[in-house]
Amino acid sequence: MKELIIFKEGEIALKGLNKRSFEDAFIHNLKHRLRPLGKFEYEKAQSTIYAVPAEEDIDLDEAVERGSKVFGAAALCRAAAVEKDFEEISRKAVEYIKDTAEISRTFKVEAKRSDKKFPMTSPEICTELGGRILEAYPHLKVDVKDPQMIVTVEIRDTAAYIHAGNIKAAGGIPVGTSGSAMLLLSGGIDSPVAAYMMAKRGVRLSAIHYVSPPYTSERARMKVERLCEKLTAYCGDIAFYCVPFTKIQEALRDNCPEEFFTIIMRRLMLEIAQRIAEEKEIQALVTGESIGQVASQTMGAIVCTDAVCRMPVFRPVVGMDKTEIVEIARKIDTFDISIEPYEDCCTVFTPKHPKTRPVPEEVEAAQKAFDFEPLVEEAVKNTELKVIKLA
Ligand code: ATP
Ligand code: MG
Repeated sequence: MKELIIFKEGEIALKGLNKRSFEDAFIHNLKHRLRPLGKFEYEKAQSTIYAVPAEEDIDLDEAVERGSKVFGAAALCRAAAVEKDFEEISRKAVEYIKDTAEISRTFKVEAKRSDKKFPMTSPEICTELGGRILEAYPHLKVDVKDPQMIVTVEIRDTAAYIHAGNIKAAGGIPVGTSGSAMLLLSGGIDSPVAAYMMAKRGVRLSAIHYVSPPYTSERARMKVERLCEKLTAYCGDIAFYCVPFTKIQEALRDNCPEEFFTIIMRRLMLEIAQRIAEEKEIQALVTGESIGQVASQTMGAIVCTDAVCRMPVFRPVVGMDKTEIVEIARKIDTFDISIEPYEDCCTVFTPKHPKTRPVPEEVEAAQKAFDFEPLVEEAVKNTELKVIKLA
């Protein structure tokens, strides 16, 4: 039996005049995700997107799995494509819904007829097909209000599509429809979750990571690249910038008061990130900070780091507690990588007593103890770019 995948639009169905550009962005992203599995043809009609295999032997389970991570659809399902003849439709429908029918007690049939030449009306299809399903599965009862199984028949120009049982899709809006941002990506739990949250709102992400060899290892950097690879399932390809940060951290250690060490380091991280972002015309920064989580994430510390920023800094996990962040990290499959015990540049030379209530003037004065500008320029110049592509 020929099968296809159907995507139901979520939020983008509510868009007004520019709905089409959101749909096109969704299809563009979906194509990119499904292309490695084989060729598909795409159709759209009435807030629904159809991905129809154009080759034999495409792994549809994998396609559903991939498709369920593309932002912009609320639900998706596999469907059977059959000839537009009622006998054929009812025979195939009874067979196709078998697995779902066996675990359900109640059902209803929904019919959509975009081919108005089809000889039966939608209510006729519902009644007739409902009868056939009851004959085949006598344990079922019809429940039009709250059925466990909804069998949908769509009579389209080329074929009739039958499906039962939607799966929850990724939601959100398509990546690329909400501008671009640079994510400060560490090897921790929070920043990959921040990436997911921003991508869900349609933001195209690049990632920046700071390394301090020999204090941080090559394996720590590889870990972050693996996190990026995981994120491509949701974000698409990611431009990954790796910044050599050792000289800056050593200069900090040797020249600035210890209690301000973390906060000055964070200001320098943001400065470097925004210079590269400006050069690449990226519009904003993103971090995985959650207010109050650690000393560098108090309101005071955030005020002091934001004081150097010329562009918006988004912190999408700011209002979440750790358990909520972990739940998402597990869902997007970054958690197991994040908890691998590698060092991060933020944890080398950490002060024993960081200032938890710093004020910007004090921090600025402390930072003036050394002229970081040449080192910042050098770090920007020596930053390596690698594009992490979807596997
Ligand atoms: P995470 O779990 O994301 O590492 P965290 O709770 O460990 O966060 P910090 O280590 O204080 O918090 O880092 C706060 C934020 O700073 C991170 O979420 C990330 O956005 C950024 N960050 C920290 N270390 C790095 C790094 N080495 N490279 C790039 N960004 C970093
Ligand atoms: Mg961290």
